[in-house]
Amino acid sequence: MAMNAYQTTNHYLERAFELLALPERVRTALITPSREIRVELIIELDDGSLGHYIGYRVQHDDSRGPFKGGLRYHPDVDLDEVRSLASLMTWKTAVVDVPFGGAKGGIQVDPKQLSRRELERLTRRFVEQISPVIGPNTDIPAPDMNTNPQVMGWFFDEYSRRCGFSPAVVTGKPLELHGSLGRDAATGRGCLFAVREVLGAAGKKLEGTTFAIQGFGNVGSWLARLLHAAGARVVAVSDLRGGVFKGDGLDIPSLAAHARTTGSVADFVYAEPLSNKDLLQIECDVLVPAALGHVLHEGNARDIRAKYVLEAANGPTTAEADQIFNDRGIVCIPDIWANSGGVTVSYFEWTQNTQKLKWSEELVNEMLEKHIVQAHRAVAACMEEYKCSLRTAAFVVGVRRVKEATELRGIG
Ligand code: GLU
Repeated sequence: MAMNAYQTTNHYLERAFELLALPERVRTALITPSREIRVELIIELDDGSLGHYIGYRVQHDDSRGPFKGGLRYHPDVDLDEVRSLASLMTWKTAVVDVPFGGAKGGIQVDPKQLSRRELERLTRRFVEQISPVIGPNTDIPAPDMNTNPQVMGWFFDEYSRRCGFSPAVVTGKPLELHGSLGRDAATGRGCLFAVREVLGAAGKKLEGTTFAIQGFGNVGSWLARLLHAAGARVVAVSDLRGGVFKGDGLDIPSLAAHARTTGSVADFVYAEPLSNKDLLQIECDVLVPAALGHVLHEGNARDIRAKYVLEAANGPTTAEADQIFNDRGIVCIPDIWANSGGVTVSYFEWTQNTQKLKWSEELVNEMLEKHIVQAHRAVAACMEEYKCSLRTAAFVVGVRRVKEATELRGIG
């Protein structure tokens, strides 16, 4: 039977534990989430009726620094998923070496069904419920799927009303409200640096390399624009409503303008239509899942024709698909490194907030590049040392760092 999200993350972790020959007591300390919170969110809807939603915050590990991780609004959010994503954040912050631990939150809701005022009320109620266990030195949320700078702005405001002015309680805020330059593009930009490093190590260049991207939200759309500007060929893009294909490369600036006006990449006239399923199986160099989890699974992994999978989304590959990719020589650039640009610039935002400074966009991007490139050096060295996949190597690097901090602080 296929593993659920949390089992999948633990499966990858176990491999790292094996390679590092960690004793059982250390494994238990590393794998177990520190705190799991479930809150009932009852709000008044615009028509006067009551809406009832469930929210979660899982704080996985804080041995390297305050808990850190996004907040997602999606109908599929459940404890298992949030637990898995919180654990991934622990290893991600360690791989990219920012002084945070790992956490994740979510509300089980379809935000498209709510008005802006309802969404604001829901966000404020969530902050009210979790405010005793978060804070600028405790746990710092950020955007994730279907949440954005506006939601972070409400979050900052509600927390500050309760606890006093605290911009560093949340990252990914609007620029006018103590946000950082470069944060919006950061995850996409980090993905670009990651794939550039992996291609470079194989003697290849971004120029002319073909990409197919599933998802045109914050991460997918920024990545597409940056790839296009770097001379790569984005041949296919899709979102919830469908996709488009053009063999010699899509005109990404026009596609982005089309998506802005219509709300979707579908029906872009300067390309052929393509289903989401076909996008995954298209012939290209790099396939980029940039939306939901577990989209690459046992049922389609053998049909993937890309040479690389760039995990812009969190947890897009099941353990079974990962094995198939390894057997077929398809290189997975793992989420905990590939998409770590977002949390890296969150760290810069938090630093600016706590120091009351403002960095230039050039400085943000330069520092981001440094973190991604240094993480690649550590992961590549580990791959050599253990003769393992990029994913396992990234987990080994993360686990090693968290283990060190955990032991130095004292386990029990
Ligand atoms: N949600 C993003 C992630 O999965 C960003 C988290 C953050 O900035 O704290 O990495």
